[in-house]
Amino acid sequence: MRLCPTLFLAEEATRHEFMHQGPLAKAVFYLLVVLCTAYLAWVIGRSARLWMKGQPIKWKPSPLDWIKNILVYVLAQKKVRSSRPRSGAPMHLLIFYGFLALFIATSLLAIATYSPLVGIPNFHHGTYYLAYEATFDALGLLFVVGITWAMGRRWGFRLHQMAHDWRDSWNLVLLWILGVSGYLLEAARIRNNPTQYDGFSFVAKGLASVLPPITDATYVAVWWFHVVLFFTFLATLPHTRLKHIVLAIMTSAGRPEQPMGELRPVTMAEVEETERVGVSLPEHYSRWHLMSLDACMGCGRCTEVCPANGVGKDLNPQKVVADIHGALRSGTTVAEAVSEEALWACTTCNACVEACPVLIRHVDLIVDARRNLVGEGALSGGPAVMLRQTQSTANAWGQAANTREDWMAGLNVPLARENPEFDILFWVGCAGATDPGAVKTTKAMAQLLNKAGVKYACLGQEEACTGDPARRTGDEFTFQDMVGRNQSVFEKYKVKKVVTACPHCFNTFANEYQQFGPRVEVMHHTQLLQRLVADGKLNGIDLEGSKTVFHDPCYLGRVNDESQAPRALIRKGALLEPARRGKKTLCCGAGGGRMWMEEPPDQRPGNRRAEELLATGADTVAIGCPFCRIMLDASIKQVTDKEIDIVDMAEMLQRANSGG
Ligand code: SF4
Ligand code: SF4
Repeated sequence: MRLCPTLFLAEEATRHEFMHQGPLAKAVFYLLVVLCTAYLAWVIGRSARLWMKGQPIKWKPSPLDWIKNILVYVLAQKKVRSSRPRSGAPMHLLIFYGFLALFIATSLLAIATYSPLVGIPNFHHGTYYLAYEATFDALGLLFVVGITWAMGRRWGFRLHQMAHDWRDSWNLVLLWILGVSGYLLEAARIRNNPTQYDGFSFVAKGLASVLPPITDATYVAVWWFHVVLFFTFLATLPHTRLKHIVLAIMTSAGRPEQPMGELRPVTMAEVEETERVGVSLPEHYSRWHLMSLDACMGCGRCTEVCPANGVGKDLNPQKVVADIHGALRSGTTVAEAVSEEALWACTTCNACVEACPVLIRHVDLIVDARRNLVGEGALSGGPAVMLRQTQSTANAWGQAANTREDWMAGLNVPLARENPEFDILFWVGCAGATDPGAVKTTKAMAQLLNKAGVKYACLGQEEACTGDPARRTGDEFTFQDMVGRNQSVFEKYKVKKVVTACPHCFNTFANEYQQFGPRVEVMHHTQLLQRLVADGKLNGIDLEGSKTVFHDPCYLGRVNDESQAPRALIRKGALLEPARRGKKTLCCGAGGGRMWMEEPPDQRPGNRRAEELLATGADTVAIGCPFCRIMLDASIKQVTDKEIDIVDMAEMLQRANSGG
């Protein structure tokens, strides 16, 4: 390959800063720099004073965490890349990487210009300069194309969830003119002062070919136009959604190193000291949470994926964020800003959290507000009954402890109290021991464990609810009561490994029990079954000729990122896949205590999910969660007259291993 000899003859190739400008122009430029920087610092300081009203954060991100988080969430745009193209992801990537390129280009120019002040020669010439011109001339196009796309999207085919006010149009027009005027400035330079190297700025050179001759005075006017636009952009940045450019870096850097499925604990000492449970005023949230409210860019991704919003409920996660932010600024309470109806509508499915590009944790905000409502006695109806049942029977369905062993009849299930030497505790859960549908899963699971020769045991009447429904409904202390009971039983039997068919129990053990005692290793039943199939202890499932669709439970597929294990149980044939699956799955509507709340038939998230699942042409719906089973069973009956089977993956595997 021959390199262009021009590159090696180009030592004199460079760009003259402040071309045709005198000392006065330079002085005005630097005055603008100082004024703009001071204004930005003042506005950021004013916002920071509001964030500092919040509670000190309890986690301590190290500088290494900051760097890692910025690399992953800002530079690699992890959240944006994983969102649906319909949400504007490709457009945002063009704008982001184009903006980044222009930022790097401007920074390099500034460094080269001022480096002689510290004894480093200006390096902005020669081969480096030509490479710089060609690279950034090309990358700047990404920015202009991205902004043009954004204009079309906002003014042409805007998603209804996207927030919109006049400042959004202002931003787009400003950024578009800024991007184009950058090329215009270089084109004017080429027309005014051409060199043999102008071909490296190929976009600007093309533009220059259609411009009339440019005088020195016209060049200076174009230069000032571009510079004033840039300072206008900087000065208005904190007052528009573009502030997320800075705030997303800050929320990413300091993000809680906390799994999606973990809620923060409340202590009695905290309640005694503050005389409240949860959050009544915005400043009861942590400083990070308050800062994250400011970072919201109104993109609507959270609302687009919210199952409650999707069926017309009074819950809009984007509005929850904006309203709590408004309450912080105006000094009002969270209850005044967000309706109770909206707070109770949340299924805690975390679809909003998963979708949010600036890492806002909506579920933390909502559950903390619920805790306060529960503390104030504002809970009634089904969920209040569920809490009373949990407190009195340690079963969310209110069944007496001795009924937890009814399903075991004739199945030869080892009980921990009779066989304390076991390897794995099979955690059945309230639904698994009580609900007739879920009991089928429990029985299939026991049969499979017996067949595979697993040394397991169940707790039977010694098992209590994990406390998940209580915690997510907002009753933290009933949850902690359940944790205490279960952890003392774990201690008694020295439990190290747990398997459960309930993703809610799974999540609570995996992410929350360690807040109060030792961590146990927990597996979803499909994970253990996958291992047993891989080891040849069980046959896999044959799906050839069947039309079976799998519904990923939120607390497995999204919250705990496990969507492979259920699918790995298939030996022949394949599951049908709905449009939303894995981390993007659509909630059945049961989580967050919603299982126990009344729901008008036309506002059931489960109906929407049932329609999506059946749109695949399936006649069987495979599940991996007892809550999903209950909700989808009711919803399928509402959306179709056809006979549709609902089976847990364990039941399918049991059939494959019994010839049944
Ligand atoms: S957790 Fe789910 S239901 Fe709750 S606001 Fe977020 S998306 Fe909506
Ligand atoms: S909360 Fe996040 S996802 Fe929702 S509008 Fe704001 S930035 Fe977008």
